[in-house]
Amino acid sequence: MAVPKSKITRSKRGMRRAHLALAGANPNECTNCGELKRPHHVCPSCGHYADREVVVLIDDIDLDEDAA
Ligand SMILES: [Zn+2]
Repeated sequence: MAVPKSKITRSKRGMRRAHLALAGANPNECTNCGELKRPHHVCPSCGHYADREVVVLIDDIDLDEDAA
């Protein structure tokens, strides 16, 4: 097993970790409903992508229609 030759100083450890911070999300507004959504993803609140509906949300499906 590889063993470190010497202790990593607090300074060197800090220099390495200086690049580990996570970048924040960069949400866009949905062009259909105006909710904030992730870029290049289907809108989770209305199911639209690029001005057309690609996912029919479960709230929009009328379940009573099948029962009749
Ligand atoms: Zn939307």
